[in-house]
Amino acid sequence: MKSLVLTAKAQMKLEDTPLPQLKGNEVRVQMKYAGICGTDKHLFNGQPGSAQAVPPIILGHENAGVITEIGSDVQKELAIGQRVSIDPNIPCGYCRYCHEGRTQLCENNSAIGVTRNGGMAEYVDVPQTNVYPIPDNLSLKAAAMAEPVSCVVHGIQELAIQSNYTALVIGDGFVGQLFTAYLAKSGLAKVAVSGHNPDKVALLHSIGADEVFDPAKDNHDEKFDIVVECVGLKMTQEQAINSAVKGGQVLMFGVANPEDQIQVNSFDIYAKELTIKGAFINPHAMAPALTLLSRKFIDVEPLITHELTLEQVPDVLAGNIDYKITKAVIKL
Ligand SMILES: [Zn+2]
Ligand SMILES: [Zn+2]
Repeated sequence: MKSLVLTAKAQMKLEDTPLPQLKGNEVRVQMKYAGICGTDKHLFNGQPGSAQAVPPIILGHENAGVITEIGSDVQKELAIGQRVSIDPNIPCGYCRYCHEGRTQLCENNSAIGVTRNGGMAEYVDVPQTNVYPIPDNLSLKAAAMAEPVSCVVHGIQELAIQSNYTALVIGDGFVGQLFTAYLAKSGLAKVAVSGHNPDKVALLHSIGADEVFDPAKDNHDEKFDIVVECVGLKMTQEQAINSAVKGGQVLMFGVANPEDQIQVNSFDIYAKELTIKGAFINPHAMAPALTLLSRKFIDVEPLITHELTLEQVPDVLAGNIDYKITKAVIKL
């Protein structure tokens, strides 16, 4: 099968790899769309995403396709030809965190497209537990976005949202847009977005942002009940904490460099009773994500800016392109 293999740090080759023997409890999915995510850039460059990727490996953790083969031990009701979206995460089931139902914190999580071969290939084999049938009215392209949307669903579940609250989303990229769209439909008093790209302002307003500002240009000292950081840089993380009102909730969603340290006024955390939370991956959130997508609670297709071929991906991940991508999917 045609596969895009990360052969070493920052090196990716299109290869013809043999189809593995399908395991009894797994299904084979012919890939149709694979999303490319910021995490893939980290993994490509040898940095961790949800975990470390060890080459040689096929990346791709935002996957949708069609079942072509079903393992002999599969008990879930699945059919050849069925369209499915794939949850990349495979928690162990036996560690303390799995037993407590907090599978996102699993000590032994393996992940499709991170620690085992993923969807940047013609086929991907995945456990029966990881496939979710795609609602009939949802396209395969939109269904490939179920994984990032499921991470957003988990992030939202970490927050206590009330309709008199105001919210700030920091970051105008794809994930910032998903949070904006979600929060805008949550009946909040106000949803603002902090971003740098003037070309995205109209889109952000169209998906429900009440205000869009550029912190580098606009003097903006308003504070918010809910702040969602979707960038992962020191500056924006500090901005997030400094943008919270008393009693505010700050969600750290952007993936930081593991070496980074940020400066926080610890008296503020105490005196303002701030809550600073992380949200990691997508526990129990794939089914809600697919429902949100099929009900158009989040209309995701207009947010996908590029459709790529496998051949284009190495240059995109290496940054050797002269165009700006907000969100790309690979069409397989
Ligand atoms: Zn991702
Ligand atoms: Zn576990």
